[in-house]
Amino acid sequence: MADIIQLLPDNIANQIAAGEVIQRPASAVKELLENAADAGATEIKLIVSDAGKALIQVIDNGKGMSETDARMAFERHATSKIRNIEDLFRIKTMGFRGEALASIAAVAQVELKTRRAEDELGTYIEIENSLVTKQEPCACAPGTSISMKNLFFNVPARRNFLKSNAAEMRHIVDEFIRVAMAFPGIFFSMSSNGQELFHLEAGSLKQRIVQVLGSGYNAKLVSVNEETDYMNIYGFVGKPETARKTRGDQYFFVNNRFIKSAYLNHAVNTAFDEMIAKDSFPSYVLYIDLDPSQVDINVHPTKQEIKFEDEKIIYAFVQAAVKHALAQFSIAPSLDFTL
Ligand code: ADP
Ligand code: MG
Repeated sequence: MADIIQLLPDNIANQIAAGEVIQRPASAVKELLENAADAGATEIKLIVSDAGKALIQVIDNGKGMSETDARMAFERHATSKIRNIEDLFRIKTMGFRGEALASIAAVAQVELKTRRAEDELGTYIEIENSLVTKQEPCACAPGTSISMKNLFFNVPARRNFLKSNAAEMRHIVDEFIRVAMAFPGIFFSMSSNGQELFHLEAGSLKQRIVQVLGSGYNAKLVSVNEETDYMNIYGFVGKPETARKTRGDQYFFVNNRFIKSAYLNHAVNTAFDEMIAKDSFPSYVLYIDLDPSQVDINVHPTKQEIKFEDEKIIYAFVQAAVKHALAQFSIAPSLDFTL
């Protein structure tokens, strides 16, 4: 009997893998925005139409790519961000898995324009079904513009599974807001069907939070700021009056990465203790910075779940820092503790 096992062709392997990274338009938005931030951009523009189903485009003024890199970027496991196994434990960038562009190129029609500042001409590439259909030099601005059209055009089951435009748009805005809050020093804009929804000038963390979550927070943020050798925590908790009956504005960032953690959420809730009603949820935007070796961000392809080396220390620290901030606020509520 003949042997029967074969390696899958790249485009099929990429399409299978894409399911994990790109679940909906918002996942592509997140990956493209993070790539732009990793490229050192100071301006990032997001353009979508039909809730990202027809078009998602991200334009940045970051460092751009060489002609060879522009092509390599779409290979699976192709990354400029890590080189060896040790690098996995000291990651400072948002990306490192080298999967996003390969996945996007497997499930959408992609156009890339990119130029490094030092190059006279940039590179234009078109890709469909993971195959380059056009590549030529182009005159373009320094930085990178990636557009992806007709997401899941070749995966009908996925395409049909997409929710209404309103629902997909909410996911996109969520991802946009998270990246914008992680990088207050970067200008971000977002437009949808030709209409500008966000225009966020670079500024302080507090300015960014108020820009994004609403001016209602302006006088209602209590600053959190504690440092130890092991970790730093900074950011804001909303004054108790901003607590809501539904889980609203609750954001944790670990080394600039938005994460979901019921465990740390609990730490904040208990710090509020009797200051808010039992059935309500405090609002907070908190940033934890610690040595990358103390966190494993490689738990899931979308990197929203992470594992801490020592979860209990972090819990205690978050709880103490929030308690401390709230205590200062309640002793002297008339003083402005905001930055
Ligand atoms: P990862 O971000 O995990 O490295 P991606 O598939 O998202 O993987 O991107 C592959 C590579 O393409 C990146 O490592 C980077 O070198 C390059 N790249 C992607 N987007 C940009 C961009 N906007 N500007 C410059 N380089 C980029
Ligand atoms: Mg990436």
